[in-house]
Amino acid sequence: MLTKNQISEILSNVHFDSNKENIVSNGSVKNIVVFNKEIVIDLEILKPTLQAKNTIKRKIIVAIKNNIDFDVDVKINFILISEKEPTIFNSTKKIENISNIVAISSGKGGVGKSTVTANLAVSLSKMGFKVGILDADIYGPSIPEMFDVSGQKPLAVDVNGKSKMKPIENYNVKILSIGFFTKIDQAVIWRGPMASKALNQMIFDADWGVLDFLLVDLPPGTGDIHLSIMQSLPISGAVVISTPQKIALNDARKGVSMFKKENINVPVLGIIENMAYFSPEELPENKYYLFGKEGAKNLSSDLNIPFLGEIPIIQSVREAADFGRPAAMQENTISENIFNKVSKNMLSQLIIRNKELPETEIVRITTMSGCLSQK
Ligand code: ADP
Repeated sequence: MLTKNQISEILSNVHFDSNKENIVSNGSVKNIVVFNKEIVIDLEILKPTLQAKNTIKRKIIVAIKNNIDFDVDVKINFILISEKEPTIFNSTKKIENISNIVAISSGKGGVGKSTVTANLAVSLSKMGFKVGILDADIYGPSIPEMFDVSGQKPLAVDVNGKSKMKPIENYNVKILSIGFFTKIDQAVIWRGPMASKALNQMIFDADWGVLDFLLVDLPPGTGDIHLSIMQSLPISGAVVISTPQKIALNDARKGVSMFKKENINVPVLGIIENMAYFSPEELPENKYYLFGKEGAKNLSSDLNIPFLGEIPIIQSVREAADFGRPAAMQENTISENIFNKVSKNMLSQLIIRNKELPETEIVRITTMSGCLSQK
């Protein structure tokens, strides 16, 4: 069985330039995934020319094949180092170093909220933003699986004399999940305040570093737990995920109205339609609207909320989630393209929101029955 360490050791003999540091010690190798005989390497490069890419690719393949005496399939994902810093939004600074907190929600479970969160996160990170995910889905914390980090335990680190939890990082995305601290069947019985306490620790007692975006994968629905989360966090905006199906849309509508309530007032950046249609690979022009056509799109115009885009049912999106590597990581694919578009639409709405609206206040629950007021 091949291991990550074996590959890393081999790569530490590969250099972009023979008189410079090797590609492991200079930090260019961002990630290595080994799956049977398939090796996927994420490699950061400065020169985006085809020639530069081919040269380093050849060096890597030769080094691996010379050291491993059976056939392996080596894939390299190039990550461009952007020379100019990406635009950082000027938003709420209530949580030090975190510029934008975006809640990703759905009225109904199983509509692809976590899958979309994971893919938006890697899309944003590939654009050069610093991204974290807070997986707050107590009913099914699936982000660790989707990033191949399940079973890991965040370490405690010392930050200015305080002990803080260090998020687990993969594919350049920092992750904290309720799933790191509890078994899934235990998380479900958590009540709002318990979950809220754990989430508070994951936000305020964690060493997130500087983040442009913290995406919060909310549990589905509109219960106490949502109020608890809004109690803890100054959320810049919310994104609602729905399939076009009528019963999903009804719940999405409830989700939107929860954010819009006068005393919660979290701006809804828009609606994303997931599982919008299916196109077989051999007949890409044919679209089959399995869950109905444009239901979420129509809902967004009904509610006068931006429509952020549609994501079809794509087999590789499901496979990539199971494999632990979000589909949007894979360059030059339909998935990368689609998630890029949706991320850009979300960014545009966030820019508008940050220009036009004041910072979101933290919502305070004043009684156990959920009576709300603003701080
Ligand atoms: P939720 O977080 O809303 O409960 P998940 O993200 O766990 O939903 O998705 C539910 C299932 O649907 C998963 O098996 C996931 O891989 C799959 N899935 C989600 N979106 C897509 C898509 N666009 N194409 C194919 N499969 C998808």
